[in-house]
Amino acid sequence: MKLKGVRGAPDLLPQESARWQSIEATTRSLLQRYGYAEIRTPVFERTELFVRGIGEGTDIVEKEMYTFTDRGDVSLTLRPEGTAPVARAYLEHQMAAQSPLVKVFYLGPMFRRERPQSGRYRQFHQIGVEAIGSDRPAVDAEVIDILWALMVEEFRIPDLQLRLNSIGDAVCRPTIRDRLSRYMANRSSTLCQDCQGRLTRNPLRIMDCKQPGCQQLVAEAPKPIDGLCDACAIHFAEVRDLLDLLKIPYTIDDRLVRGLEYYTKTAFEVINPRLGAQNALAGGGRYDGLIEMVGGSPTPAMGFAVGMERVMASLPLAPEESALHGIYVATIGQEAQRMGMGLLQDLRRRGVRGLMDLETRSLKGQMRQANKERVRYCLIVGEEELRRGQAMLRDMVKADQAPVELDQIVERLMGLEGM
Ligand code: AMP
Repeated sequence: MKLKGVRGAPDLLPQESARWQSIEATTRSLLQRYGYAEIRTPVFERTELFVRGIGEGTDIVEKEMYTFTDRGDVSLTLRPEGTAPVARAYLEHQMAAQSPLVKVFYLGPMFRRERPQSGRYRQFHQIGVEAIGSDRPAVDAEVIDILWALMVEEFRIPDLQLRLNSIGDAVCRPTIRDRLSRYMANRSSTLCQDCQGRLTRNPLRIMDCKQPGCQQLVAEAPKPIDGLCDACAIHFAEVRDLLDLLKIPYTIDDRLVRGLEYYTKTAFEVINPRLGAQNALAGGGRYDGLIEMVGGSPTPAMGFAVGMERVMASLPLAPEESALHGIYVATIGQEAQRMGMGLLQDLRRRGVRGLMDLETRSLKGQMRQANKERVRYCLIVGEEELRRGQAMLRDMVKADQAPVELDQIVERLMGLEGM
């Protein structure tokens, strides 16, 4: 019986990996320019971290976690997101002592047991950015600037929309929540089954329900943005002012809430309207409550996560094909193949990309392979030429060829453009 992979956990095949590596390299280079360093946390954590850090009553914790009991009795969970693990590492390694504002990013797989569909997977990858230690609006603006630079300037994804909202803090959120649940409770018969449950556990979540009945109610419901306390309203105004300064276009979306409980104040999303149902490319916001929730002292923080699969689906064109480079050694006969192997070992140790046929393919087959591999040069070593100490060097760009002497071949090749 042929075994299959797990549904919703796709393979990344060799022909796609160059594109992923290019996105990863671009991300690392941009974040380095903003002074962010990479952090790599394990793919699993104690379950309690996510229950406390994401919050009971969220879809992730209630339905989507891959949780298992380790041999003894420790409950572990494959990470469904990266922020709680970063917060855990921040506390565990006393990173606050290193800098008043800790700036880190991560790249890697996340796991959620969602219903797989186009753009929604059970193993997917995120680029995440976290700035921990400051409550200044300038941090919000800079973090959003990073996201916008990454998506628009670096990845060149067209037609993106940045949606922005503020959802209050520990001072005003309880009132915002109460007003909303009172409004909804009086009209609860119109709510879908899920939202009936959210009414008591997490009424803000009703705001982003897609069911028509719920949407109708939400349209008329009291908005978080109208219930902000003075401090939150001032913070939000300053963030908007700085985004204007940085020329980052955004729209206020007063229904935007983030699914996770630890978010405060600024919340935002980047949408690609061309993507269909799963059109959110990235989401983030301020999470001033999280560090305390996972056992630290109150510490403000701000971040976002980008879904890499959705970035891949949004890239306008395949990136330009790289220029031809390196060499293919095509050989005829066993002696020539042995000579080719030795030559390539030498060239590769000098940093050259060098390829050859290890089977016994025909010369025509080898030339076809050389074309496919997009090498700049092809060295053709035949039995007859080898005896004379010669080979034929073909420049695949100029499409011309000339005999070369084998006794100084390495020096000769190393001097060529495109090797
Ligand atoms: P979240 O951590 O839920 O705020 O999600 C941040 C981003 O990760 C989203 O905007 C998506 O681009 C991506 N994402 C979240 N869940 C999935 C999933 N199941 N499959 C693919 N991408 C996802």
